[in-house]
Formats: sequence, structure tokens, C-alpha cells
Amino acid sequence: MKIVLDAGHGYNTSGKRTPDGMREYEFNRVVAQYARQELLRYQNVEILFTHSDDRDVPLQERTNRANSWGANAFVSIHANAYGAGGWNSVQGIETYTPTVDSPNSDRLASSVHRKLIQATGRRDRGIKSENFHVLRETTMRAILCECGFMTHYQEAQLLKTDSYRRTCAHAIAEGIVEHFSLKLKPTAPPSTGIYKVQVGAFKAKENADNLAKELNGRGYSTFVYLDQGLYKVQAGAFAQKANADSLAAQLRRQGYSTFINYE
Ligand SMILES: [Zn+2]
Repeated sequence: MKIVLDAGHGYNTSGKRTPDGMREYEFNRVVAQYARQELLRYQNVEILFTHSDDRDVPLQERTNRANSWGANAFVSIHANAYGAGGWNSVQGIETYTPTVDSPNSDRLASSVHRKLIQATGRRDRGIKSENFHVLRETTMRAILCECGFMTHYQEAQLLKTDSYRRTCAHAIAEGIVEHFSLKLKPTAPPSTGIYKVQVGAFKAKENADNLAKELNGRGYSTFVYLDQGLYKVQAGAFAQKANADSLAAQLRRQGYSTFINYE
């Protein structure tokens, strides 16, 4: 299975940043990197990056490379923005499909989008069609994920964290795995999942939001997501168990009870 992961833009693309300075490409490239790691655990998967840390690769070049490589899927990774500048209240995650009829793109979008919403708990803005170059000029199924708004203060703070980047990457990879029914390599190392530090799980969203707010006030980046009927408050996600253990220990010293989920 040939999968293109396309991190939108480049380091120096003007305008694509949060009001407090995070460049969109910083988020996009790291999510692509983590999603690649995750997908390479599966059989018969090849990954191509169409972006570069050296320059903002022109869109035509990206789609030409994907087409001539014979990719089976093109997944473009982005963070969103709204308004003329400064913070505003527009938030959430949306996934785009081509405007032309493409049932495979629609199916891929539906798997990836659902995983993103489940994993992050952010507002579901739905799946939309748009005449974007990377969706129009690619010859294979193609989707574009907008993983949160750089212009929404809380989402911008999440977009900066390794924890949220890992969570988005994991979700995108899981959606692709589901879509293609990929099978794990027998030799896949079990340690490439993520260790999520969970601080609470509640039936009422309000209680989870209150705890998240309290933790934010103490300098932790948290997010709340719905899992098996409970609103869970996540304070961090790590590839290394030792890092999750150390965050959990720190939280326990401050009086919180913690639980580490491995996914
Ligand atoms: Zn973008």
C-alpha cells in the first residue's frame, strides 16, 4: 500500500501561524512523522513525504510526485485558521474530500475523521468537499485534514504540544489502517503506541471540563475526549513509558489520581 503523507506548507510560508507564533508547518511535519512511524508497523506499507523542511514544495510538484509514484492514498495534514488576525472562537476539526465524485476518498475521510474526533474530543465540523489543488490534481483517493484552529487560543496551545500531535497522528494512522484493513507486521515492535496520562474520567462533560481548566491553570496542556461513554481528561501522551510515568508522578504529588492508558 503506497501512502502519501503531505505536511502542508513549509517553515517559511508566510501567514500560516498562530497569533503567538507557532508555524503551521511545525505541527504538520511532526504529525506526518509520527503517522509514518505508526503506519510502518503494518504489512506492505510504503510511505512517501511530499513536503520538505528546506522549502515550501509547490502544490503541483506534490501532486505530480504522488501521481507518478502510483500512490493509493494522499493524506494532507494541516491546521486551520479563521479571520484576519488575532484569536477568535471558531474551533474544531474538519476533513476535506474532492469535489468530484470519489467514493474511496469519502470512505477514507470518514474513517480518518471519526478517529480524529474520537481521539481529540474537539468539535466535529464534519466532512466537506472543496476544490483544493491537492484533492483535485491527485489521481488516487485524497483527503485533507484540518486538525484544529491556530486562531482559537485553546486549540493553538494544543497544536503546540507533542501530546496532541501524537494523538492526531495516531488517529490519522488508525483511520488509514481501518480503511485499507492493514495487518500488523508479525515483527512490529509493540512499543510504538502511545502512553496517555489520564487524570479523570467522568459521565458529565462539565466535570471533565472543570478538571481540565484547573489543570490548565497549573500549567498543564490538557484535552477532554469521549471514550466508551466517559469524558476523559488527558494531560499528556508519550512514546516512552518513562515520560508518562514521570508526568503521572508529578500530578500525583499535586494530589491528582492518574491512570496510564497504552494504545
Ligand atoms: Zn494549511
